[in-house]
Amino acid sequence: MIDSVRNAPLLLDRSRWAGRRNFTVLHTQFDAGRRFIDTWSAWRDDPQRCERLHFVAVAALDSMTTPPVMADQPALSKLLADAWPMPVAGVHRLEFDDGHVVLTLAAGDAQSMLQKLWMRADSFYLHSAAFGETLPFVAKALARIAGDNATLCADAHPELPKALNDAGFKIDESSHYVNARFAPRWRVRRHKPPTAFPPAENKATRHAMVIGAGLGGCAITERLASRGWRVTLIDRHASPARDASGNPAGVFHPIVWRDDSIAARLTRAGFLYALHRWSVLEQNGHDLRRSRDGLLQIADSAEDALAIASAITRFGLPRAYINAVDEHEASRLAGQPVSRAGWFFPQGGSISPGAVCVAQCAVAGDRLTSHFGLQIDRIEHKNGVWTAFDATGRFIAEAPVVILANAGDAQRLAGLYGQPTRGVRGQLTVLDASPLDGLRVPMVGDGYAVPLDQHKTLTGATYDIDDTNPRIEPSGHIENLKRVGRMLPALNGFAPGTATLEGRVAFRSVTSDRMPMIGSLVDEPAARADAARLSGAWPLDLPRMPGLYGAFAFGSRGLIWAALAAELIAAQLEGEPWPIERELAEAIDPARFFLRALRQGEIV
Ligand SMILES: Cc1cc2nc3c(=O)[nH]c(=O)nc-3n(C[C@H](O)[C@H](O)[C@H](O)COP(=O)(O)OP(=O)(O)OC[C@H]3O[C@@H](n4cnc5c(N)ncnc54)[C@H](O)[C@@H]3O)c2cc1C
Repeated sequence: MIDSVRNAPLLLDRSRWAGRRNFTVLHTQFDAGRRFIDTWSAWRDDPQRCERLHFVAVAALDSMTTPPVMADQPALSKLLADAWPMPVAGVHRLEFDDGHVVLTLAAGDAQSMLQKLWMRADSFYLHSAAFGETLPFVAKALARIAGDNATLCADAHPELPKALNDAGFKIDESSHYVNARFAPRWRVRRHKPPTAFPPAENKATRHAMVIGAGLGGCAITERLASRGWRVTLIDRHASPARDASGNPAGVFHPIVWRDDSIAARLTRAGFLYALHRWSVLEQNGHDLRRSRDGLLQIADSAEDALAIASAITRFGLPRAYINAVDEHEASRLAGQPVSRAGWFFPQGGSISPGAVCVAQCAVAGDRLTSHFGLQIDRIEHKNGVWTAFDATGRFIAEAPVVILANAGDAQRLAGLYGQPTRGVRGQLTVLDASPLDGLRVPMVGDGYAVPLDQHKTLTGATYDIDDTNPRIEPSGHIENLKRVGRMLPALNGFAPGTATLEGRVAFRSVTSDRMPMIGSLVDEPAARADAARLSGAWPLDLPRMPGLYGAFAFGSRGLIWAALAAELIAAQLEGEPWPIERELAEAIDPARFFLRALRQGEIV
């Protein structure tokens, strides 16, 4: 049965993608890349092809082995094999042909993944045999994400005609395989699948103003410019990455915890997508000062070390992602004794946030116009255009889309209900010629230690909520040494003159749930006016400000949030498949605090 769809010719009517900006195919069961490679090849051969081809495929976790090189398509299948991601659960995004062909792989149980993907599909390939009695649920899941007149090709199955019909598909032809179209005669879903924000559809209006040139703003600049957008980037400083993103180095790694929580899944997605984007920048010749030998995390207690080791086995996490290490192995990796066992991320490490920002602005090329040394005081929306003004009321820039990537100042500019973010002061300490000289890899635990060069180690960081003191304090240095000393005992007893130590102070922006704010902002006045009806609302029910997006409150993890934030916002603007599951996007939705207030009746 499965073979019939696999062997079916490319059933896509190519006239459907002709001249389109985006065209999206969903395959319910990744077949080692066969259908994707054939579609990609047909796309390459067609002069009338769409600008961007999105191919979304669901793959069982145990089938996530590197696909073979195909005799009839050696070049394309080799590109796929080379880009193949680590076999971990979640959504992976791979880009080919300069980002014009995008493969979104949803690794996990097919039925549950189909409920979680958020996209508008133009064409489906459905392996009916894989679902059997659950076909009615699967057909409903496909209907939720079907674009108008989306076509479907499936293996024949006794349950299929009724399942498709009930979900709003009309069967055109039925033999070895079934051809159908999404053409519901009644309402079959609560929400329509995502569409492009109208200015995104026209080259002339594809223009965004990005406020803030730190990790958040530079990442969105790069993601939009890669899609042909013009970007106006504005920052109050004289160059990018001068505030929190101006630290000499930062560490990056996902969270692994006892359960595969939303935070664990989100940080996994952010970590993997950041690695992918940084590799592309490096392939383009940019030196991001990224360490290459992995990152070691020291457990808070022996009990934690055991619990994480057992979670790694339970989730089947591959060694390329993480491995548990005992105290002896951890000491060997660190190059000096450590206080406890922990776990090692072979792909984790440290990187220069400033170098990432500069590289992202550089690749945006002439699509980027930068305005430095300008502080935005106010933004205003009129007749479909956002305008930014400084404190004197002077016009600074305008565009149909504005993205607030200005960290702790974003809630003020957007006028967000309840002011959901707070500032957290952080102080770093740079040790010159210390017992940490020769540390082999970046380490995290209670604090962190990053070898900058043979005799310099960056240590940090203090975490003081609502403290606005910009000065470097000796007490902060002492705290940093104590924290790091708890994982690297060589530091205990080391007492340099704190008045002469080098350091840096910067401010993180955090929310109460420690998740970032990423996506479209709520139209609070419209929602207030409809508060009674929206008291039981879901995120998709809320009215949103047209063209107003946020990418801020990255807390202590800007390095792994920024690229994913940028890709999610770009996908939302373009009506493309989202790069993460919808429930994960909801956990970082900037609307969540307002939504909670609506549900709790605080807004009347
Ligand atoms: C001490 C310390 C250590 C850290 N260590 C790590 C780490 O190891 N790993 C990690 O991943 N993260 C770390 N972080 C967090 C990380 O630095 C941040 O999450 C990240 O830099 C935030 O990026 P951003 O672009 O949101 O904000 P920022 O880098 O603060 O950029 C915001 C920009 O907006 C501009 N701006 C603000 N308001 C306006 C306005 N009204 N008009 C014009 N421009 C405006 C600012 O000038 C600034 O350039 C650390 C943070 C601190 C403080």
